[in-house]
Amino acid sequence: MWSAIQKVIPIGENLQRRGVTQEAKCIRCGELESEAHIFFKCDFAKKVWQQFNLSPTVDIASQTRLKAVLVTSRTNCCLPPLGVTTNILPWIFWSLWTARNTLIFEKKTYTVEDTAIRGIKLAREWIQAEPAPHASSVRARRGITNRPRLETTHRSSTDITSCKTDAAWDKKTNTAGISWIIEDLPRSIDLRGVMVQQNVSSPLVAEALAVREALQTASSLSVTHLRMYSDNQTLIRAINEKLFEKEIYGILNDIEAFFSLFVDLVFFYLPRAENGHADALAKYILRNPNHVMDRPMG
Ligand SMILES: [Zn+2]
Repeated sequence: MWSAIQKVIPIGENLQRRGVTQEAKCIRCGELESEAHIFFKCDFAKKVWQQFNLSPTVDIASQTRLKAVLVTSRTNCCLPPLGVTTNILPWIFWSLWTARNTLIFEKKTYTVEDTAIRGIKLAREWIQAEPAPHASSVRARRGITNRPRLETTHRSSTDITSCKTDAAWDKKTNTAGISWIIEDLPRSIDLRGVMVQQNVSSPLVAEALAVREALQTASSLSVTHLRMYSDNQTLIRAINEKLFEKEIYGILNDIEAFFSLFVDLVFFYLPRAENGHADALAKYILRNPNHVMDRPMG
């Protein structure tokens, strides 16, 4: 952003002014490639900005001066459901800039959605890496700063949480018991969740519902790097290969939407034999739907 404001960022207009290149055209639309063009005025940039529900609204098309935009953007925040409480502008700038470079130098095209989602992911990763100011001040006041402790606010981005899901389905009543086990031992997370769902038309639907519930829980725990496991191969393939599965189309769309809420979200097939705990939980809750889970089950 500093380079862009100082007009030293290597875009067409600046390169042409310095005699480095003759052409100064935007690779996407052929217009003069200026800072304002690449970050705001190009159709591609406009479409990326339209993916965000910014408050107060940034009138992107009217922007010509980058610095002014950056200053006013400090009060901008993304409205739900993006869940990004910080200023998203720098991350979108970076995402637009790298998308442009990848297109020019690697001939690889990122879509509008890819570019927007990458911006959100970067912002979320940044937020997660920042120590929570409130937590540290509370600790300081209590005078326990010297006590050795597990630092959870500075965890490395490679810390990964795992989640196993499963479902049991009753053909006669169209009822499903669904379960999920979220584990992240360094962060002392060991959470087992269950739910009974009526009007479930097939085991595949039940398994998909389990994944959706698990993702909901994991995102509410501020998990950023998540490995999801299910023993339903059809479901894992549908998610990973973005296949159209009519039966679970709506749930797949919901699952897809969760990708933007995690820095890293990966789905794996887990052989049934290795999913015993989640399987037992799902079967248990289907048989005992009124059981209130007031403590973790083991
Ligand atoms: Zn353009």
